[in-house]
Amino acid sequence: AVGAVGYASYVVYQNRHPTEQKQFDPSKRTIVLLGTGWGAVSFLKKLNTDDFNVIIVSPRNYFLFTPLLPSCTVGTIELRSIMEPIRFITRHKSRNVKFYESECTDIDPESKTISITDVSDIKGAVSNTTIPYDYLVVAIGADNQTFGMAGVREHACFLKEIWDAQKIRTRLMDCVESAGFASQTPEEVSRLLHMVVVGGGPTGVEYAAELHDFLKDDLQIWYPELVDKLRITLVEALPNVLPMFSSQLIQYTERTFKQNNIEVLTKTMVKEVADKEIKVMDANKNMVSIPYGLLVWATGNCPRPLARKLMARLKEGGQSSPRGLLIDEYMRVAGAQDMYAIGDCTFTKYAPTAQVATQQGLYLASVFANLARIERGENRKISPFEYTHQGSLAYIGSDRAIADLPFLNGNVSVGGVATYVFWRSVYISNMFSFRNRFLVVGDWVKSRIFGRDVSR
Ligand code: FAD
Ligand code: NAD
Repeated sequence: AVGAVGYASYVVYQNRHPTEQKQFDPSKRTIVLLGTGWGAVSFLKKLNTDDFNVIIVSPRNYFLFTPLLPSCTVGTIELRSIMEPIRFITRHKSRNVKFYESECTDIDPESKTISITDVSDIKGAVSNTTIPYDYLVVAIGADNQTFGMAGVREHACFLKEIWDAQKIRTRLMDCVESAGFASQTPEEVSRLLHMVVVGGGPTGVEYAAELHDFLKDDLQIWYPELVDKLRITLVEALPNVLPMFSSQLIQYTERTFKQNNIEVLTKTMVKEVADKEIKVMDANKNMVSIPYGLLVWATGNCPRPLARKLMARLKEGGQSSPRGLLIDEYMRVAGAQDMYAIGDCTFTKYAPTAQVATQQGLYLASVFANLARIERGENRKISPFEYTHQGSLAYIGSDRAIADLPFLNGNVSVGGVATYVFWRSVYISNMFSFRNRFLVVGDWVKSRIFGRDVSR
């Protein structure tokens, strides 16, 4: 047994400390890859870097496993457990892959250059520069949709990035502690302990579910005097939550939320956001004020400023949609040469999910492998991208999950505790590294044994 543990440790050590790589080769073409998210990392992992030089540009020097981000807002999982440094992935490539922690601010398809800006607070002698590309892969994801509504960015918390989860957690515990402050008025206690989630898509639903678990499992123990006053409300403009799931699972989710005392306000649209209340138009078209302590905003995606700028530049070339970059079935950006785009920054017939971004990234790596072979004189045909839907999963609280899974040309809809076990195993197997898997499983065990940490 000691030998086996020793050997396993050696394998893990080797995995974290890869051997030397080949250097940049001026005779090879350079791919510039924008982003370190699902699309970019899937592409990079499969790309044969013997064939190309690669430069990655992203303001985030890590990959983030977004499906478990809602669990981080309440401390079921620690933030670092779902982050993987991009250098870990680049160090495993056969050729040195350069990484610049910076934001791409402009793309010039004419000169085939991009402008980048250092995002670090510590600026060196050079903080803006341009870099040329032979091929550009745009995988910059999407921004949070606010519909231009005033007050959303100032007062609400989003749930897309690590810092969003941190902000939600701090704000939640601030609300709870302030509600417990000496001589607090009952109205203020009621407001502070009202947690409002806007958007009944999977992000809003999963967040409300995690918040409920935290309330039931932990806050109940540590804040017995406050817990009965804590309310969770989910506001959704459409007639039901989770429109992408089957009606059976929608009903199951709404029933579970009811049992868990999560109030679901459907056919209710947020119209105004102020620092302590939102104004909504309810199902009867009445304007109603809802005071809140914490406001989580999860109303979907919109294009990032860089994507918008590029779309405007390429308008005459065929970029006619305001919803994202238009690409063909080979991931080529309409109106540009040697430019590809994948994931949430594109507008296609597919939903903006990690599943789609991953498959597009893997597909694009195979396109580049074929391009390299064609350049070497081999006879290769590049087939168009085909998406395989592997199903939809969501966590709905109280150890229950829902799953719509394709099965024998049909669909199977399941929900409950067994689905939750399945949900966990799917997410664990989809994590990019053994280290992440190890840390996440450890966090699950830890939070079961010791409870979640209630410090801010
Ligand atoms: P991202 O993963 O968002 O990556 C974009 C990258 O581009 C980031 O590294 C970013 O820093 C970088 N970037 C941004 N701007 C620039 C710039 N100007 N220059 C250079 N780089 C830039 N999908 C599922 O399929 N299943 C799930 O269970 C699931 N759960 C989710 C849970 C949450 C809370 C959220 C928010 C999303 C979830 N999704 C899920 C959706 C999934 O995360 C996205 O569809 C996926 O991240 C899209 O991948 P992407 O590579 O296009 O973008
Ligand atoms: P979404 O677009 O799926 O849902 C946003 C919801 O907000 C919609 O139902 C919309 O009707 C509602 N909305 C919009 N404006 C509103 C307003 N003013 N007032 C009230 N409600 C309003 O967004 P999301 O949940 O952030 O998901 C984004 C993408 O990420 C989706 O493609 C989703 O499938 C994917 N995702 C998947 C999972 C999963 O598979 N478990 C988890 C999270 C996200």
